[in-house]
Amino acid sequence: MLLLIPGPVQTRPEVRAAMAVDIAPWDRDFFPEYIAIREKLRDVAGGVAGQHACLPLQGAGHFITEAAIRSFIPPQGQPGAGRLLIPMNGAYAERMARLAREAGRAVVTLPCPDTRGVTPAEIALALAADPAISHVGVVYSETGSGIVNDVPAIGAVVREHGRRMIVDAVSAFGALPFDLKAQPEVDAVVFTSNKCIEGLPGLGFAICPVERVEQAAGQAGSWSFDLADVYATAQRAGWGSFRFTPPVQALHAFGIALDIFLAEGGQPARLARYRENCRILYEGGRALGLKPYLDWKQQGPIIALFHQPEHPGFGLQRFVDALKRRGVLISNFHNTVEPTFRIGCIGHVGPDEIRFALGAMRGALDELGVRRRDAA
Ligand SMILES: *Cc1c(COP(=O)(O)O)cnc(C)c1O
Repeated sequence: MLLLIPGPVQTRPEVRAAMAVDIAPWDRDFFPEYIAIREKLRDVAGGVAGQHACLPLQGAGHFITEAAIRSFIPPQGQPGAGRLLIPMNGAYAERMARLAREAGRAVVTLPCPDTRGVTPAEIALALAADPAISHVGVVYSETGSGIVNDVPAIGAVVREHGRRMIVDAVSAFGALPFDLKAQPEVDAVVFTSNKCIEGLPGLGFAICPVERVEQAAGQAGSWSFDLADVYATAQRAGWGSFRFTPPVQALHAFGIALDIFLAEGGQPARLARYRENCRILYEGGRALGLKPYLDWKQQGPIIALFHQPEHPGFGLQRFVDALKRRGVLISNFHNTVEPTFRIGCIGHVGPDEIRFALGAMRGALDELGVRRRDAA
């Protein structure tokens, strides 16, 4: 089965095979392996040894995002309480806002359509209007619609205004450029094991400035989600240590995926492959008479959405089932207000797989009786 969902992604056989072992996470042989993963990730993020730390957390991407929010934004009702500005241009921005509110952090929303990235000028205006905003929370690649928010340009504005930034790079890290040492306003850039690095699900990671993590001690209001405690544990027990049982097989497999990522040329090579996947999909979809959700100018390289054809024969689950019978699995839901369907361009897939998927889409639309010219 070809998995074309925006995570967990299609993985290489050797990455999956690495899961089939028993490992004691506290074993001294695993210690250096885990340390090496943390150091490599810090380097991929543009971090500097001694100045930036890789702080992993068990669980899904939402967990590491919540941990970053709790750890770096002082809660409401306390002296120096923070306020988080979020440009609301997609489903993951909505999710960040909910995570922050439920953690008792004040949220300021900046309305923005999900068909384009927020502009640095819009962020500047919002920051000027509310001096109490301490942080800006930005989703780098908005997986709900496929757009990209320009994190380096937004970061420059945040820096100018003397505020801090939290970057949800879950579907971007390893594909879109990111350089932590050039963005000192960033408190945390967060991502998971199962997206653009092409590992299996189970872990989230935050790369953070050490100085900021030290200042964050005691602020999370949660032991599980306290990145300052993850850091303190590493200081005390070593960078190969864990606080709680990790998904150790997923971590081991992730180390192999990460080495493959680096050997293939790292972020620029991955971006080039995903961009090409996306271009073939976007153009191929149009050739089938499908209407892309985004203008090409706004289309990021991670995921492409198409409007669902307005045809009585089309139903999303029926389409997904018909594709599945042809060996391709896509999401059976959409995060946009308008009915769309979405196809991931990430994972261990290249042009051949995307062309195979386009063939499957043609077959599925035919089976559903959707005359392709009606779909445009
Ligand atoms: C996948 C994703 C997440 C995390 O999702 P989980 O299901 O919690 O792993 C967060 N943000 C973005 C932009 C994502 O694409």
